[in-house]
Amino acid sequence: MNKTALSVLNTVFGYPEFRSPQDEVIDTIINGDNALVLMPTGGGKSLCYQIPALIRSGCAIVISPLIALMQDQVNALTQLGVNASFLNSSLDKNQAFEVEQALRQGQLDLLYIAPERLTQPRMLSLLQQCPIALFAIDEAHCVSQWGHDFRADYLQLSLLHQQFPLVPRIALTATADPRTHKEISERLQLDDAKHFVAGFDRPNIQYRISQKQNARQQLLSFIRSEHENDAGIIYCLSRKKTEETAKWLCQQGLQALPYHAGLATDVKERHQNRFLREDSIIIVATIAFGMGIDKPDVRFVAHLDLPKSIESYYQETGRAGRDGQAANAWMVYGLQDVIKLKQMLDKSESGEQQKRIERQRLDAMLGLCEITTCRRQTLLHYFDEHLAQPCGNCDTCITPVQKWDGTDAARKALSCVYRTGQRFGVSHLIDVLLGKNTAKIEQFQHQQLSTFAIGIELDIQQWHSVFRQLVSRGYIYADMDSYGAFKLTDKCRPLLRGEENIELRKDNTEKVKKKKSLKSTTAIPEEAQPFWEALRALRKRLADEHGIPPFTVFHDSTMKEMISTSPTNRDELLSISGVGLSKLDKYGEQFLAVIAQFNRR
Ligand code: ADP
Ligand code: ZN
Repeated sequence: MNKTALSVLNTVFGYPEFRSPQDEVIDTIINGDNALVLMPTGGGKSLCYQIPALIRSGCAIVISPLIALMQDQVNALTQLGVNASFLNSSLDKNQAFEVEQALRQGQLDLLYIAPERLTQPRMLSLLQQCPIALFAIDEAHCVSQWGHDFRADYLQLSLLHQQFPLVPRIALTATADPRTHKEISERLQLDDAKHFVAGFDRPNIQYRISQKQNARQQLLSFIRSEHENDAGIIYCLSRKKTEETAKWLCQQGLQALPYHAGLATDVKERHQNRFLREDSIIIVATIAFGMGIDKPDVRFVAHLDLPKSIESYYQETGRAGRDGQAANAWMVYGLQDVIKLKQMLDKSESGEQQKRIERQRLDAMLGLCEITTCRRQTLLHYFDEHLAQPCGNCDTCITPVQKWDGTDAARKALSCVYRTGQRFGVSHLIDVLLGKNTAKIEQFQHQQLSTFAIGIELDIQQWHSVFRQLVSRGYIYADMDSYGAFKLTDKCRPLLRGEENIELRKDNTEKVKKKKSLKSTTAIPEEAQPFWEALRALRKRLADEHGIPPFTVFHDSTMKEMISTSPTNRDELLSISGVGLSKLDKYGEQFLAVIAQFNRR
């Protein structure tokens, strides 16, 4: 391995060792070859071009579509003592001129630039006159027309290959699927490049999916017991719900802010900035929030509504724990979610073929919710990756799910749908099964039916669970044209005829065992809390002084190591992961002073 690369990692970034395959990627670029890197969010893509940028002569050009992020990335590099700048539409003429001047004079190690700017002839001719260390094409999936983030400007990036044949190029993305991979390779002419595909597992994320009872209370007790003072994202389906949920959480004493596409631009910016710059803000958002949020210490992502596909679920939950520290992906869902999503799909304007694909995606998502085996194995399998053993860090691994023979219950439920004329929703059906005495039962004379009171062996909740699983698995569906009444599908026949049995999941209503889940959250021992709070306060003060987000000063993991090792001098501080020379000079004394107050060695 390249010695210089390792010493740059140690001294500039303050990290002890590379994560695979960072070192190989870096070697490839330093040698002047091209690379295509597929790595999950939080995998550490940036170092793959930042370190070669510091080692090769000339300036590295980083093409990124996320203008809002450039400033933060440049700030973070400046903290490390690296000469970085950016060029995009947020700069006025004079500012842009100064950056170009610095580039001409060879003062920059890295320059971030928006694709539409790079491809201007004037810019290209400027670059022709300067020594270029490399081109990094970040978010490279934007070149793919299949993806959601297609950017026409990205298509032009193939000109880099033609106009700068001797400059190595590295394309990076977290989008894994083979079709996108192939398209990036073709469109950016990277067929001769070395391809690096890192596994997509995110072992530090604990996946938990449970049944909705009182969603708000469940959420609150989850946050209170595991994420007091943590930053998190809560996803909801509707704009209205994000606002109501945020308001309610604030009433409970938490700091929650809504975020959705309908809010004014300045409100969105303000909320996003507070999320980045303060320590324990919770954002309650629609899917409009996320792209380009590069906050490493998001400790939990919660879903109050079911995502439409495993792809969305994985992308949204992937925003937790980018720093590699333990994080939670927590979701509650219920029968109504299943019905709502299926109805939205039926109502959507897309063509039949598109609908069929979306239906398959939703079914896979429901399958993930209802499985009784390891969630991570199922998730990875969906992305064509294989995990030999159950992970031990998801709800079904931690609290194994019981199954029961639901054949008899399912038959009763289906018969009840049939006997009542396929005209009713779940509440009435359950009333009939339980033999309740309601006005509606009276009105329709349903006490006369053979299915009246045949289900008293289960309670309301259990019947909900039965119906939910029957809808998820496609035995019944809610018909929009008759006010959401349940109707039978062809799939019921063998079950009703007694030719098929069905195994159902016994819903786990109790919480995931506390002890195990704490292992994965960011537990600071009780007695170290004052120490931790003092470090957080210092970090926040320094961040505000420099106008940067706190995690740009030090990550949580770095501060935790300060607590566990209690360094007493500069050398000991420097040996902590995340402390490099530049930050040692900037902040070392002040952190050592706080540590000395708590030092118990
Ligand atoms: P990505 O762009 O792949 O989502 P980043 O480049 O933002 O990931 O890196 C994710 C986090 O991991 C960052 O906070 C980064 O500082 C940290 N990191 C990257 N490489 C290493 C390493 N070798 N050792 C320790 N931390 C690392
Ligand atoms: Zn598992």
